[in-house]
Amino acid sequence: SNTLKKRKIAVLGSRSVGKSSLVVQFIENHFVEPYFPTIESTFSKGVVYKGVEYDCDIIDTAGQDEYSILSSKHAIGIHGYILVYSVASRRSFDMIQIVYDKIADFCGKNDIPCVIVGSKTDLQSSRQVPPSEGEELAKLNKAAWVETSAKNNINVGKVFELCLAEIEKRSASSQTD
Ligand code: GDP
Repeated sequence: SNTLKKRKIAVLGSRSVGKSSLVVQFIENHFVEPYFPTIESTFSKGVVYKGVEYDCDIIDTAGQDEYSILSSKHAIGIHGYILVYSVASRRSFDMIQIVYDKIADFCGKNDIPCVIVGSKTDLQSSRQVPPSEGEELAKLNKAAWVETSAKNNINVGKVFELCLAEIEKRSASSQTD
């Protein structure tokens, strides 16, 4: 049908990994250096993917630690998740599995439509997480994976395409429309 498909996507991860920068780059096509770090906001954008028009609500979350990173409101009505770590922060990478497990717990299933994102690839000399580890973690959780730089606008659109793909993969036989 021609009806617009509504998709709600939550962006989660440790503080300062670049969640807001990624979302703002995607929505507004620019990189903002100082951004409001602790305010949760929702952005809307129409996305055409594989000939289908999606009306995406993207929730830029503002959790600070493993306890507040995911609240139950991020498990209700969300179609897909974007879990962000910085390739320059081992700690933020370690947080990904913890957050994934919390989402799985909330949703009561192991197979979550999810993209794991290694951000800030422009910080080459500060890299702490090699691509192979990101890829491996994604494989383990049956998630998609990509590395990005919001600063240099590398793979930003790809993150959201992968997320829609992960959602569609699992909604083929359900009532997500
Ligand atoms: P959030 O707390 O996860 O939403 O992170 P922010 O988007 O506020 O970004 C935290 C800091 O990292 C800010 O100083 C950003 O300018 C910086 N940052 C975000 N994305 C990138 C990137 O791709 N490359 C670099 N070098 N810095 C980035």
